[in-house]
Amino acid sequence: MDTSAKTNLLDFDRAALRQYFVALGEKPFRAEQVLQWVYQYGVDDFDAMSNVSKALRETLKQCAEIRAPEILLDQTAPDGTRKWLLRVDSGNSIETVFIPEEGRGTLCVSSQAGCALDCSFCATGKQGFNRNLTVAEIIGQLWVANRALKRNPKGERVITNVVLMGMGEPLLNFDHVVSAISIMLDDFGYGLSRRRVTLSTAGMAPMIDQLREVSSVSLAVSLHAPNDALRDELVPLNKKYPIAELLAACKRYVADETSRRVTFEYVMLDGVNDSPRHARELVQLLKEVPSKVNLIPFNPFPGTKYRRSSAEAIERFRAILMEANLVTITRKTRGDDIDAACGQLVGRVEDRGSRSRRYIPLREAVTQ
Ligand code: SAH
Repeated sequence: MDTSAKTNLLDFDRAALRQYFVALGEKPFRAEQVLQWVYQYGVDDFDAMSNVSKALRETLKQCAEIRAPEILLDQTAPDGTRKWLLRVDSGNSIETVFIPEEGRGTLCVSSQAGCALDCSFCATGKQGFNRNLTVAEIIGQLWVANRALKRNPKGERVITNVVLMGMGEPLLNFDHVVSAISIMLDDFGYGLSRRRVTLSTAGMAPMIDQLREVSSVSLAVSLHAPNDALRDELVPLNKKYPIAELLAACKRYVADETSRRVTFEYVMLDGVNDSPRHARELVQLLKEVPSKVNLIPFNPFPGTKYRRSSAEAIERFRAILMEANLVTITRKTRGDDIDAACGQLVGRVEDRGSRSRRYIPLREAVTQ
């Protein structure tokens, strides 16, 4: 039988899977059983699902499958950061990164093959955009990584946090991202707390409001500049949704809960956005928004005109923010030896847009 004709159950969150079983003439609770097998035990073989009747297992074998993206490359950096290159179709592959830290492990997940936003300092943007990932391709990254990482000696899962900070703009693939998040949070899925799942956006202000309606994961916003003139240059999306509009949406996102804050990401670019004046401007800007700031030392990639700010400039910037009582963390650069750091993920994408000539080939040149 042609496998492409089969229904991939990784595409279904709990609600959709219940509907699927009802359509098969089965009881909806089969959805919970199957979810547990798939996500808690990492099973992709229907025969292993011992509490599912034999007849139903046979039906599922005929018409369904559990198919995650195929691993093309699996690399581990000296600091323990691990990156998978995953094939999603004949023309596209994406990257997923695991970052182990003391007491937690974070998986950085991609939401699109490429990215349409073209932020001037980001390698993903330079290769252009091809398509949104399906639910199966998004949640499949977690499934693949969980299988590969096994459990720790206490029997616990190693991935404790998920950040939607890989390739792509998650809020431009809204429905699929929301379904994948619902599997991450589902007690029959990965059962992660909503505080341990973070969605990062370049600033799709109206979609932040939509996200608030359907989910309550942690929100991170790639701000990178304290005024519109500079942000227009770094994040072209700012011309559509300028800072005031973006921050208003951020405020609404956390308004219902006093302890919630938005994380603002700020990439430190030498001589561009890293002066004390910029820091003071940022303090003024964030005064009214419950915030944390994450300073990200710029990670270079071939062909970029930017340089990373010096350690002194980053520290001086951080000190000004801290003095103003803004909780500020400098993100440690992880996995840069294998091009797995923020902004370095490129995978391999067939650009259907206008920027194909600027495609930067993957350094490892592994595919095909
Ligand atoms: N599109 C979303 C999700 C990607 S998150 C967003 O923009 O938030 C990836 C994070 O890494 C973003 O904060 C992005 O601005 C940052 N980044 C991109 N290129 C980078 C680079 N070269 N060095 C450091 N950080 C970078």
